[in-house]
Amino acid sequence: MTSIFAKKTFKCFDGSERASGNLFTPEQFNNLKNAFLAVGRFVPQGACLSYAPLSIANETNKIPMRGVIRGLNFDKTNGIIEIEAGMTLGQLAQETLPHYWYLKVQPGHPSITLGGCLGADVHGKNQFQDLNFKEQVLFLKLYHPDHGMVFCDRSQNSEAFHLTCGGYGLTGVVVSIGIQLGQLSSPIIESETLPLENIFDLPKALKERSLTDDLIYSWHDFNKTKNWGHGFLKVGRYKKSLHPGDWDLKSDLIKLENVKALESESRGPLPINLLCPLSVYAMNLAYSQKEMKAHKKGSLNLLEFLFPVLNKTIYFDLFGKSGFHETQVLIPFDRFEHVMTELKSGIKKFHTPVTLASCKLFKGQPELIRFIGEGIVLAFNLPRNSESLKLLNWWDQVIIENKCLPNISKDSRLPLKVFESCYPQHGDFKSGLLKWDPKRIFQSSTSQRLQL
Ligand SMILES: Cc1cc2nc3c(=O)[nH]c(=O)nc-3n(C[C@H](O)[C@H](O)[C@H](O)COP(=O)(O)OP(=O)(O)OC[C@H]3O[C@@H](n4cnc5c(N)ncnc54)[C@H](O)[C@@H]3O)c2cc1C
Repeated sequence: MTSIFAKKTFKCFDGSERASGNLFTPEQFNNLKNAFLAVGRFVPQGACLSYAPLSIANETNKIPMRGVIRGLNFDKTNGIIEIEAGMTLGQLAQETLPHYWYLKVQPGHPSITLGGCLGADVHGKNQFQDLNFKEQVLFLKLYHPDHGMVFCDRSQNSEAFHLTCGGYGLTGVVVSIGIQLGQLSSPIIESETLPLENIFDLPKALKERSLTDDLIYSWHDFNKTKNWGHGFLKVGRYKKSLHPGDWDLKSDLIKLENVKALESESRGPLPINLLCPLSVYAMNLAYSQKEMKAHKKGSLNLLEFLFPVLNKTIYFDLFGKSGFHETQVLIPFDRFEHVMTELKSGIKKFHTPVTLASCKLFKGQPELIRFIGEGIVLAFNLPRNSESLKLLNWWDQVIIENKCLPNISKDSRLPLKVFESCYPQHGDFKSGLLKWDPKRIFQSSTSQRLQL
């Protein structure tokens, strides 16, 4: 037996939808072609931790890649690694950290796969320095039933390379990825938590700290009217030199190995949402006080800084079965103040609690349907209900009017109209994809909504 087929139902991480289809689990990548003996549409799947339904669709064959990891090829002198796409960030760290190499761009949970990072072209807390995941990729091996196994990089099959990085799994199954790792001067992060009186102080603080710090993100409370958006900026710098005993590598790797895997299927076991205005108020108060007191200035290890959510994933469960909405948008610097003033009035008008709000500094050139550009990225979460939907429908207009860029991978409801007006190069992506795959074999719920 080289492959396993099974009928299964999948749940999107934010609770927005369920989709059923056949599951094809390849035991080895060189048996992938067996999957395509089945009829119909396909979608490659990583850990299925995207907030939007990127790796599920109804009546579509899913090709789950998580867990299929073999054939590591690691050049420890130059920090170049070829990894199979089903490897998770946690598994990669186990391989590379002991040799003082690390993946420079990491999203917030070690259960996320490298294939998922490539498909959604993810970013980390250092986007202003190292850009997105694509910029770390040297080459990839892509399987498409009509093309076979294709090696792609910036010069060979470059069109397929550019369509695949940030192409949401629509060009085929990425089997392995060649990555340039970063050299770790030290895994210890000297961190500071700086109070922000309100959100309008953020652009100046972000720009100033980006000159001295390696990792930055902010946290805000959007629920109080006084000092709206107050919160803190969390910054970190890699410690320049490491003394013996500064880093207990072994215990970090054990911690990483024992992290409970995050899964969309088991998120939100309770039938009800526990995040009402009062509980959100209390949660935010407790969280900001704790952060301000506990970590004013100190040192954290890299894993604690990269994955602050690690011991707090109960947060996602509190929304219950109905789930949550996330919206993440890149706001041009010159529109930031205006957009925040609008948002403040919208939140008041629609009277819905914002359970989390956070910002990052971004740079880079817009390209196809990648989430990249210059400005400040704001993400916020809301419980999934009719009031929050009204707020988000209103927010769509603010996004369009202010030339913001919404993140496709975060918002499972992002309407076609908003996508088309905010991504001017969507037509180039679509025509490139059609040229590569005229049959459009690979589709997801999201690609169907966005008519890709
Ligand atoms: C707690 C948490 C924190 C997060 N923090 C961040 C963050 O800081 N920054 C950020 O950018 N995102 C963040 N995310 C979002 C997450 O990083 C992305 O949505 C990522 O794509 C999820 O990867 P996955 O392994 O779950 O893949 P899936 O969600 O299963 O798939 C994602 C996309 O990649 C494609 N894909 C997966 N594997 C392959 C493959 N082998 N070949 C071809 N295509 C493939 C899929 O088809 C799909 O389009 C976070 C998510 C969570 C749950």
